[in-house]
Amino acid sequence: LIADHESVKPENIIVGNGSNEILELAARAFLNKDASAVMSKHAFAVYKIVTKACGSEIIEVPAKDWKHDLDGFPSATKENTRVCFIANPNNPTGTWLDHAELETFIASVPKHIVVVLDEAYCEYLQPETAFDSMQWLAHFPNLIITRTFSKAYGLAGLRVGYAVSQPAVADLLNR
Ligand SMILES: *Cc1c(COP(=O)(O)O)cnc(C)c1O
Repeated sequence: LIADHESVKPENIIVGNGSNEILELAARAFLNKDASAVMSKHAFAVYKIVTKACGSEIIEVPAKDWKHDLDGFPSATKENTRVCFIANPNNPTGTWLDHAELETFIASVPKHIVVVLDEAYCEYLQPETAFDSMQWLAHFPNLIITRTFSKAYGLAGLRVGYAVSQPAVADLLNR
C-alpha cells in the first residue's frame, strides 16, 4: 500500500491519474478567479496551465541561476495568493533545493496558502542531497507532497501518481 510505503494512513493519501491530475485537483480545490498562485519562472509547465484553467493570476518569481529563488517568494505573494507550487527537483531546469532551505521556506508560508511540493524527481537526488520530506507533514497542515510512478519507475503510461497531506486537505482533493 502507498500509505504503508510512506508510513502514513490511507486518509493521508490522494491518488491521481498521474500526479499531473493532483496538481490540477489542488488548483481546483483552492483557486478561483479572485485568487493567485505563486511559482518560480522555469518551473514545471503544468502549474501555469492549471492556474490559468481556474481563472487565477499566475505569479512567477524570477529564477536565480535557473533555480527557484525562495527568498523572492514572500514579496511576490499577494493577499489573494492561495497556492504555492514548488518543484523539487525542478523539471525542466534540473535544479534542486536543499533540505534546510526548503523546510525554512515552508515554515514561513502563511497557513492560508497551500504549498504543493512536487517531488516527481525526488528519487533522482543523490544520497547526500536526498531527504525525507514526509516527516514535515505532521507540522504543516497546508503542505501537499506529490509523487509519481512516471519517472524513476518508468510507468508514465499507467498514469499513476499520488500525494500525501494531512487528512483535511486530502479529503478536499478526494472529493
Ligand atoms: C512528469 C512530472 C509530473 C507529472 O507526472 P505524472 O506522469 O502526471 O505523474 C509532475 N511534476 C513534474 C515536475 C514532472 O516532471
